[in-house]
Amino acid sequence: MAAEAGPGSPKRGAANGAAAGAEAAPGGAGGRRCLRANLLVLLTLGGVAAGAAGGLAVARWAPRLEPPQRAAFAFPGELLLRLLRLVILPLVVCSLVGGAASLDPASLGRMGGWALLFFLLTTLLASALGLGLAFALRPGLGTAAPAAAAARLPPPKEVLDSFLDLFRNIFPDNLVSAAFRSYSTEYELSENKLNETNVTTVKEPIGREVEGMNILGLVVFAMVLGVALRKMGAEGELLIRFFNSFNEATMIMVSWIMWYAPVGIMFLIAGKIVEMEDVGQLFASLGKYVCCCVLGHIIHGLLVLPLIYLVITRKNPYHFLWGIVPALATAFGTSSSSATLPLMMECVEEKNGVSKHISRFILPIGATVNMDGAALFQCVAAVFIAQLNNVPLKFIQVITILITATASSVGAAGIPAGGVLTLAIILEAISLPTKDISFILAVDWLVDRFCTVINVEGDAFGAGLLQCYVDHHETGLGSLGPELAEVKDAASMVPVSPEADPLILKSVKFGDPAGNAHTCEKESVM
Ligand code: ASP
Repeated sequence: MAAEAGPGSPKRGAANGAAAGAEAAPGGAGGRRCLRANLLVLLTLGGVAAGAAGGLAVARWAPRLEPPQRAAFAFPGELLLRLLRLVILPLVVCSLVGGAASLDPASLGRMGGWALLFFLLTTLLASALGLGLAFALRPGLGTAAPAAAAARLPPPKEVLDSFLDLFRNIFPDNLVSAAFRSYSTEYELSENKLNETNVTTVKEPIGREVEGMNILGLVVFAMVLGVALRKMGAEGELLIRFFNSFNEATMIMVSWIMWYAPVGIMFLIAGKIVEMEDVGQLFASLGKYVCCCVLGHIIHGLLVLPLIYLVITRKNPYHFLWGIVPALATAFGTSSSSATLPLMMECVEEKNGVSKHISRFILPIGATVNMDGAALFQCVAAVFIAQLNNVPLKFIQVITILITATASSVGAAGIPAGGVLTLAIILEAISLPTKDISFILAVDWLVDRFCTVINVEGDAFGAGLLQCYVDHHETGLGSLGPELAEVKDAASMVPVSPEADPLILKSVKFGDPAGNAHTCEKESVM
């Protein structure tokens, strides 16, 4: 079993990192190498800038594009979204089955526990930051309530029903329908006639399947399936290899999609700007709220998360951030954590040296439950709506916002405007009018982009920190149980890339005293 550095192995990542730092190399060769190593990052950043400039230019010179023309203009962006959505299902399921099967239950629990603790703490920090900024900058004071955008708001859900739905979605009753539908409680009003004069209206909860992948249910199912397959030992090996192989093929497709991302992002952004009607008017009324959210996202993304990473790993967090720029730009362009997941996996593995066993296990979970950006903007929005309605918030209400924003961000789907929908839970919890969400929706097309960038950045830092944790506790992860060792032996009979197989955690080349190189499998994740 050879191959020290498969495509995406930490060594390859390190090699890329070295290439990225090739400025030191003499002359034009170093510059060219540096350019080549960072080409995708530069192209993606160029795509964002060109999209903003192009969108503004089109909006200025051709302001009256008809809907079919607008759709045609946004088409290259739509294509990127379709491609990314196409690979989400195989990627999430296959990577989690393979990831869970590659770890012994103790390691799985330890790693999952650390990741969830990190996700919880950073989300709480983001919520606290959002609250602090909203109270300090008071975006709702002096703001004339803007004319409500004619938004199609779903009827507000009871807080209890929102949390029950979260658990119902964790345990889908049909795996196939979970691939494209989720459970959601809706209400039917019926009249309860006690007598001729006394008629009360009763709100009856009705369970419905609504459009949208139940990614939470799929994540849980895939993880449990991975654990079960590992428990089966040699008998489960065939299926584990199937999922790993499927996962590898999907990742290869992702690496192709990445080269289309700059073009797609450019048209996604330009298309959105062209679609907006009166941006100036919107900013005049809601600008303070937007600035408050964006400032919070900038502080959390450029200071808080990097500082946590720096303190724990003693590594340069901005170098890590540079490696994931294409994924961050994709998050900005698509407003979807789920759609960004494929590129984020590619980036952290290729550029930041996070091993596949970690990234493919932790990133799908993070993209589903970790939403720092959403929690932050929900806190700002709740305080903003309170200020808009002149409702002074009591201490207990502030704590309620903090806790419900953190909890409801878990239930927010990683799709555009996923967070706005769960904002209703917070407003219900502190008795604020949920109809005011329409103000938030009016500018959500912009806030949501920053929010999604922070959501996915938090996941990536979580993967980076876990890598650091694993580097320091290698033996814990490398301890294969006896039944898995059997699987490993069986797997080694087939010539697959060791990196593609989570059961074989590392191949290290040693030179024997005679100078002949030979390989030796070492059980570690590095
Ligand atoms: N769009 C965000 C995401 O996909 C969710 C949200 O609206 O907060 O992460």
